[in-house]
Amino acid sequence: MKMNLTATCFLGLVTGSLLWITHAHAQEAEPGKEGKVEAQYSREIDQLARDKQIQKAFQHIVAQQKQNREELIMLTEIPAPPFMEQKRGIRFASMLKEAGADSVWTDKVGNVIALRKGRKGKGCVALDGHLDTVFPAETDVKVKMKGDTLFAPGIGDDTRGLVAVVAVLRALEDAKIETQSDVLFIGSVGEEGLGDLRGVKHLFSDQSCRIDSWISIEAGAMGRVSNMGLGSNRYKITFKGPGGHSWGAFGLANPQHALGSAIHYFSKAADKFTRSGARTSFNVGRIGGGTSVNSIPFASWMEVDMRSEIPENLVLIDSLLKASVQKALEENNQMRRSGPALTVEFERIGERPSGELAETLPLVQRSMASVAYFGASQKPVGGLRTQISPFQKESRR
Ligand SMILES: [Zn+2]
Repeated sequence: MKMNLTATCFLGLVTGSLLWITHAHAQEAEPGKEGKVEAQYSREIDQLARDKQIQKAFQHIVAQQKQNREELIMLTEIPAPPFMEQKRGIRFASMLKEAGADSVWTDKVGNVIALRKGRKGKGCVALDGHLDTVFPAETDVKVKMKGDTLFAPGIGDDTRGLVAVVAVLRALEDAKIETQSDVLFIGSVGEEGLGDLRGVKHLFSDQSCRIDSWISIEAGAMGRVSNMGLGSNRYKITFKGPGGHSWGAFGLANPQHALGSAIHYFSKAADKFTRSGARTSFNVGRIGGGTSVNSIPFASWMEVDMRSEIPENLVLIDSLLKASVQKALEENNQMRRSGPALTVEFERIGERPSGELAETLPLVQRSMASVAYFGASQKPVGGLRTQISPFQKESRR
């Protein structure tokens, strides 16, 4: 993953809403759809950008570049896989305190939250980056520099987002900008992998923390505005049996064989299903089980990830998975010559709902108008989520 050193973030303040953009370089282009900015929002942002305080905030963001780069390296080198974000969270909390937040705290799941009070304190806008990275604990996270580019696992997704969150807070403080709404600056936990969005789910279930607008900063193409969340279902599926010696107990049902059949039936059915209609994906990401080449295993497991742009397809592909596993179970139990039947267990290890905000909503429109203000051309982008983007020079990995 690479991040351009000239990465810059900007901010706009629109009647209590806070918007921002980050510049990032990534590599492969992916299909997407183009957004349309309505004239009233372009005018609003143009007007706002002429404001003296906003100009001062922009200057402060540019002036922070060296500091931001040092902080990006420092935070990147604190490993933070899902469920192990604490050390990075402590450092991030102290950065928010130093930046001048009114109060900073860590909630019971580990989200780091800073409050900057608004003039009216009526609404609440949240600006978030996620603390965790997708990389496991043993990954070498030392930042390396080649030319003008920094390389390290997780430096873009989403350590750059965390640095941008703090940079916006500093710019607001420096330019003495008052917002109408309260603004929360957040480092959330559990965005990646088995974290299953536990940080954000907690923030929206916690009644003491009412958030009206949510803006999440992610690594990706400059100008990428995501207004759709991609849904996913994830399972760990385990076939279990008595196990025994491969010669002495031959004829027992074999969980590993059943797992192989299940993958075969599921991949065939799911392949057919995902060839048309809304974009939907499936993946058997990890398998395991067994103790030696000459033992019939006690257990055999796989981890499966399914994603779709629409909830209906998630339900359908989910049922294909369950039917395939059931078919494999029955078939392998019928084939056994002795011993008890195999059983199967489904453990849900991830559930992310699909969701979409209309392109015409003010929050989405203002985001697009803000990125357009900074002058890139209008081209479509795509990626992990459906996106609306007024331009694209780079696109997501
Ligand atoms: Zn991310």
